[in-house]
Amino acid sequence: MASSSIHNLVHSKDTMHIATRPKITTLPTKNLFSSMPMRHTRSAKLSRSSPTRPALRAVAAGRPNAAREPLNELEESPIKIAIIGFGNFGQFIAGGIKRQGHIVLATSRSDYSEYCNQHGIQFFQSMDAICEEQPDVVLVCSSILSTESVLRAVPLHKLKPDTIFADVLSVKQFPRNLLLEVLPSGFGIVCTHPMFGPESGKHGWNELPFVYDKVRVSNDGMQARRCAQFLSIFEREGCRMVEMSCEEHDRHAAGSQFITHTIGRILSHLELESTPINTRGYETLLKLTENTISDSFDLYYGLFMYNVNASEQIENLDRAFEIVKQKLFGRLHDILRKQIVERVPMQGVPARGRETNISNYFLADAGKITTLSHFASPAQDESRADEATLSS
Ligand code: NAP
Repeated sequence: MASSSIHNLVHSKDTMHIATRPKITTLPTKNLFSSMPMRHTRSAKLSRSSPTRPALRAVAAGRPNAAREPLNELEESPIKIAIIGFGNFGQFIAGGIKRQGHIVLATSRSDYSEYCNQHGIQFFQSMDAICEEQPDVVLVCSSILSTESVLRAVPLHKLKPDTIFADVLSVKQFPRNLLLEVLPSGFGIVCTHPMFGPESGKHGWNELPFVYDKVRVSNDGMQARRCAQFLSIFEREGCRMVEMSCEEHDRHAAGSQFITHTIGRILSHLELESTPINTRGYETLLKLTENTISDSFDLYYGLFMYNVNASEQIENLDRAFEIVKQKLFGRLHDILRKQIVERVPMQGVPARGRETNISNYFLADAGKITTLSHFASPAQDESRADEATLSS
């Protein structure tokens, strides 16, 4: 495949967006990176003495919760992971990978070389350059919407024939099908979804769910070992490892994550503000709104567009809101009918007023109705004023 900057992947509709981005100076890979020492935050020796060593062998065997057994030979050689798409989440996940002593390479549509320099990560200006490094794992962290064009631009022939492709997309059936379609049969495929992000995982990943599906990984040999090493990163970080099919993930995620994001997005349009009397529930809503809008709209749109179960959930939400409204207005209707047709007095209306002032039983003038509470009980000021008039 011809040498291509990741910029070239983008659909024409994105052109204007790209034009506003900082210009990337493409340097020859060798000049840029040959003088750069491999930087590991934690040496193999350190990690062997770590009290939180994971069950590498158990993970390799698909038993992530089994008793912990070290695999020394795996721990001694860090793996090389190439992150494609180094935005918000790519940078966040790189932190955990580095903490576990592995080598992180990155490329993206935008230039993150400065950030990478500061964080001991090798940044490559093009797909070609990063693939020439022959990473063990290519970790796709691009937006859901751009993943297909990103993936189709990877020069696969430059990679090792048993390279593992993993992704972190928040939907799972779509990347699984895409990876199966695009990659040669020797390449491994592990679809993952860390169920947390830069906000929820900023204080550590302990007990946070990490969903994965080993879609296509050879049972033994180097690919199986590299896959085990890759998954062990998240287990070592304390994640709750959940092996689950991509279909099952999408079903659960539509009913949980998509609903959460949707409610957060709806609330964001209410422009809620903190008050001096916030309840715990309200604080939770404020936090939810803040977390939701810190993610890109592309991400949210991807959750909708690329999860077959999402539209059903939007309809469920719509129905649920209707039911709640019907409950409220239904009760209101009963009260109004009692007042208008049966002339049953309302609770809270003074007995004297009830006997003498029929206007209490009817709605206020249309012009005076400003809130729903006008429907539920007669305007107190008016009834008092009427009483005063009657008694004078
Ligand atoms: P995002 O808006 O979903 O994705 C941003 C990334 O996509 C950036 O790396 C960006 O590259 C790249 N990108 C966007 N449009 C592109 C295009 N037309 N061509 C090439 N690259 C393009 O935000 P994100 O939070 O970083 O999420 C990245 C992935 O992680 C998504 O698949 C998401 O579902 C998944 N994920 C996110 C979270 C989270 O909490 N944020 C949690 C779990 C999984 P540039 O930055 O170079 O422009």
